[in-house]
Parts: sequence; structure tokens; C-alpha cells
Amino acid sequence: MTDINSFYPHKSSRELRASLLLFQLLSYPLLVRMALFAWQIFRFFRLPVAPFVRFTGYYQFCAGKDVASSAAVTSKMAAFGVKSVLDYANEHATNETDFEDNTAVILQTIGAAAQNDTYPFAVVKPTALGAFSLFEKKSNGIALSNLEVAAWERTKNRLDECAKLAAASGIVLMIDAEESWIQPGVDALVLPLMKTYNQKRVVVAITLQLYLKGSFDRYKRLSAEVESYFLGVKLVRGAYMEKERQRAEILGIPSPVCDTKAHSDTQYRQALELALEKLSRNFCIVATHNESDIDWVVQACKQKDIPLNHKNLWFSQLYGMRDYISFDLAAQGANVFKYVPFGPLAQSIPYLIRRALENSSMKAQTAREQTMIKKELRLRKVNA
Ligand SMILES: Cc1cc2nc3c(=O)[nH]c(=O)nc-3n(C[C@H](O)[C@H](O)[C@H](O)COP(=O)(O)OP(=O)(O)OC[C@H]3O[C@@H](n4cnc5c(N)ncnc54)[C@H](O)[C@@H]3O)c2cc1C
Repeated sequence: MTDINSFYPHKSSRELRASLLLFQLLSYPLLVRMALFAWQIFRFFRLPVAPFVRFTGYYQFCAGKDVASSAAVTSKMAAFGVKSVLDYANEHATNETDFEDNTAVILQTIGAAAQNDTYPFAVVKPTALGAFSLFEKKSNGIALSNLEVAAWERTKNRLDECAKLAAASGIVLMIDAEESWIQPGVDALVLPLMKTYNQKRVVVAITLQLYLKGSFDRYKRLSAEVESYFLGVKLVRGAYMEKERQRAEILGIPSPVCDTKAHSDTQYRQALELALEKLSRNFCIVATHNESDIDWVVQACKQKDIPLNHKNLWFSQLYGMRDYISFDLAAQGANVFKYVPFGPLAQSIPYLIRRALENSSMKAQTAREQTMIKKELRLRKVNA
């Protein structure tokens, strides 16, 4: 970590104190569980959540209700060299109307990116554009009914529409990874898109979850394949560990997730090594909050004479989490962007719940976040 003036230049001291309080509360798992229980009661009785927005972490983890209102946050970060991708935090999509609405919003984010170099990327979750059950059936080779075939075609067309606009807009469209048991279905749509659109540059980037057994071998295979097109990957560890393990246990099958954190870490590091080795054809997004991995990449780039702002190398963290890492990387001249969720409060609640659970279970990282905010507040007092 370098000696920069501010690790949170985009936040006022008042906002930082609110962040500190939130991270302190998140370090009490019992409190988080009580808050989740309260949310279930609100949902059951259909009570309005808007008056309690302050207590949901919305302002910490989301930028605004729509593309336009998120610009206040993203432009502040851009002033300090940290770019953004607008991530529509609607994880509720279940029917064709939802999928159409989501497509319209994602096309809007691509449109915004085309006009504003604060947004070099757009992002889409496959299940925001098509039914989970369809991806699951496709993954298991289950024959689709006529109605489902039509729905599958519409899903394919929605993804294609997003990729086409990303290509015309000069940006990269990232495809998020979700549960492993729908991934073959996702690949069936996305890998052909990558081959079609990545002929001259990376337009479509896939996500590799290195917590999955065999995922590094998969990356090696994809890397070896790319003679005729450019490969774009976002490297993550993976966000669905508990769910994956529970499902495997219920079905009595081996868990697809590595048995230990050390194994996930090894695969992640191997993937980083491969990405740097193949940087001329592989476009890579280092999407992690793991400081040791980030330091490793920075040092490896120095040793290999790779500039941190190499056009094929990006770092990324989630908005509201480990901001000090992002601003430090930007100060060192690296390409860095935040995943910036946006959407109305009620729709963003599932996303906020995931962030609350993640922060409350990762004690060391949450403690580090508090230490960094306190350090920043002390520095500001001294410099005032
Ligand atoms: C910009 C960005 C984009 C992201 N996009 C996606 C996405 O598209 N899909 C997705 O699934 N996730 C995504 N994530 C989340 C990511 O997968 C991780 O859950 C999260 O970043 C924490 O991992 P880490 O590398 O930052 O940190 P670390 O703290 O080093 O790692 C924590 C992670 O290690 C793994 N792990 C923990 N314990 C064990 C164990 N006992 N055995 C095996 N593995 C273990 C889990 O994946 C856990 O999340 C994204 C994260 C970022 C920052």
C-alpha cells in the first residue's frame, strides 16, 4: 500500500463516520441476523421499507435508484482515477416482463457507457435476462417444450442485443457468473457470443470462479483455444460457496467448490499468473478484495515490466467495500473500476443482504475496513 493523501477521497468525514458505524454493526452476526428477520417481517406484511433506507446499508453499497442519479457517486470516484461499471441490482427477475425491463435498463447502462468514459464496462447477470430454470434445463441436457424453446431464443436475443450495442459503443460487456449448475447453459449462449464479437478486441468478457474445482484447467483450455478471437475474463473466487455445498450435500454429490480456502487461493494465483503471461491476447479483470493477490499482481507487473495501466489489465472491487484498495491502485496508476450497484431500494434488498452476510462473516476484512476508515478520519483531523 502506498503513502497517498487519502484512501477515501470520494467521501466526506460525515459519510465516513456513517460507514464506520455500519461496518461496526456488521461485525455483530447476531445483529445482522436480527436485521434480516426484521426484513422478512416487513416483506411478509408488505410494509414500506423506504423510511428506513438509512439503516439498510443502501447508501454504503448502492449509488442511486437509476443511471442518472448514480452519476453523482461515479463522477466523484472518477475524479480520483477510479472508474465504474453500473450494475443493476435487481435480483428478483422471474418472468418475461422482468427480463424485458432488465434488458432495457442494461441497454441504458451500455448507452451511458458509450457517452461517458467513466464507464468503460457494462455488466449483466444471465438470470436477469432469462429464467434460471431454463439455464438449469439446458445445463442438464433436458429437452425444452415449444414454449421454453421460444423463451430460450428470446434470452439469447436479449444477450445478443446487449453484446451488439457494447460492440458498437466501444465498451466491454462482462457476464457475471452465478451458480455452477446453470453454468453450462450460460456457456451455451455466451461462448459463441465471445467468438462472434471478440474478433478485433474484447467485447464480451466471461467470469471464471476459481473456487470451483478444475476451474484453472478450464481457464488454461480457453486460453489455449484463443487463436481466432480475444479472450476476456473476470477472475473471481466465487460468491455462492454455502449454497453450492448445501446443494451438493442434499443431492449426495461431491461439492464443486474446492474443499479448502487454500485450494481456491492456489487456483486464483495460478489464474493470475496465466493472465499476466498471456496479456497480449487475454484481457483480464482482477476482481478481488484480497490484498495479498493485488500486491502480488502489482509486484509481478513491476518484475515483468508490465505497466499497471496495460490496456488488458484491470482491477476491480465492489462499491462500498475496500475502497482504500481501489484508490490506492488508482494512485499507483493502475486501471481500476468499482462495481457500482444501483436500483430502487426495495429491489436492492437481496443484494444488500448478500453484502451484509459477506461482511459479517469476513471478520478480518471488516476489521481492516474499520481500521482504514479510522486512520483516514484521524489523518483528516490532523490535516484540518
Ligand atoms: C468486482 C467484483 C466482481 C465480482 N463478480 C462476481 C461474479 O460474477 N460471480 C461470483 O460468483 N462472484 C463475484 N464476485 C464475488 C467474489 O466471487 C468473492 O465472493 C468476493 O470477492 C470475496 O473473495 P475475494 O477474492 O475478494 O477475497 P478472499 O477473502 O480472499 O476470499 C473469500 C472467498 O474465498 C472462497 N472461500 C472462502 N472459504 C473457502 C473454503 N473454506 N473453501 C473454498 N473456498 C473458500 C470463497 O469464494 C469466498 O468468497 C465479485 C467480486 C468483485 C470484487
